[in-house]
Amino acid sequence: MIYLDNHATTPCDPRVAQQMMPWLVEHFGNPHSTSHEMGRQAKSAMDAALASVASQLAVAADAVLITSGATESNNLAIDGVCRHPRQRRRHVVTSTIEHPAVLDVVARLEKDGFRVTRVPVHPQDHPLAGQIDLEPLAAAVDDDTALVSVHWANNEIGVIQPMSQIAALAHQAGALVHSDATQAVGRIAVDLQRVDVDLISASAHKFYGPKGVGLLTTAGGVPRRRVRLKPMIVGGGQQRNLRSGTMAPANVIALATALDLAVAESSQVARRVGELQLRLWDGLQQGIDGICLNGPTLESSMRLEGNLNCRLPGIEGESWMAACSEVAFSSGSACSSVDAKPSHVLTGLGLSESEARRSVRFGIGKFNTSEQIDRAIEILVAGYRSLA
Ligand code: PMP
Repeated sequence: MIYLDNHATTPCDPRVAQQMMPWLVEHFGNPHSTSHEMGRQAKSAMDAALASVASQLAVAADAVLITSGATESNNLAIDGVCRHPRQRRRHVVTSTIEHPAVLDVVARLEKDGFRVTRVPVHPQDHPLAGQIDLEPLAAAVDDDTALVSVHWANNEIGVIQPMSQIAALAHQAGALVHSDATQAVGRIAVDLQRVDVDLISASAHKFYGPKGVGLLTTAGGVPRRRVRLKPMIVGGGQQRNLRSGTMAPANVIALATALDLAVAESSQVARRVGELQLRLWDGLQQGIDGICLNGPTLESSMRLEGNLNCRLPGIEGESWMAACSEVAFSSGSACSSVDAKPSHVLTGLGLSESEARRSVRFGIGKFNTSEQIDRAIEILVAGYRSLA
């Protein structure tokens, strides 16, 4: 199997798994049981890992919350800000192409009486295809806006959003800014001293860490605005009462190790993965007449390296996938493949339902090789020809 679905998840880097292991088996103390040495040992290793995560993102160590992943982080960020008892504002702004872990939280707030604005993105034929349209965004934010939530990078078409501009518009109106940075953290620079976003969400399994652990930052770099969050999970009061439950040192250490490696290797990985992305695209274009790219051009600096979302002439993405079972890639968003509806990201770009159904996503990762890409092209082209 050739794995080309690295936006859905990445394999855990063996160096990360190795760092985790002693904290599962040997040093298994509860980091909140600090009355004895086993607990203190776990706590100090975990605190060091938290400090390292904070410094990679350029926030204070007490601004990092550990969660089960980006879904939980998005829920806590959006519900937490909007449903805090001292929150007076009743309006939320987001984009039309967010992950369901944002859109569904916002839809639930709407049902509960919040006003919601979903700002469109530039259409496929625009030079900024997939980027949020800043004009309606500026018109939408007002002194009733509690939160602007826009993802840093998209999981389907790889478009990177202009977070500094989005944040400046939101802050002018006194709103807080949350960004679902799940596809960005570990892939591109996410420096909260330079980009003034108050809350970001991420999941370790998108940058070669394990599944089931993620983070939410609860303050930006500079300036540090006051973020009041209503906790979702209450109990023992861990993590400053914002997310109760015994923390897992092995997971926190894995997340920190994965982030350190991803940041240290990011430019080298981006270059390699970018080359493989072009190789795949060239091969597909040569083998399949009329195949088109969805989202920004591959030359654009506003597209994640390694992301290829393309549209086939005449054939549904699902059929192509079925004909190419030796390659792992996805139709639609794959994070929600249970959903048979065409991708809201692609229809949000202005594609028709039929065009969206004829689209697939490839996500190239750091463990892919040029031999794998060449073999994948052969399989994909042969699979297409067997259907066309
Ligand atoms: N946001 C984005 C942009 C994602 O790509 C994903 C994962 N597909 C999530 C949120 C949810 O992450 P998790 O499943 O790890 O909670």
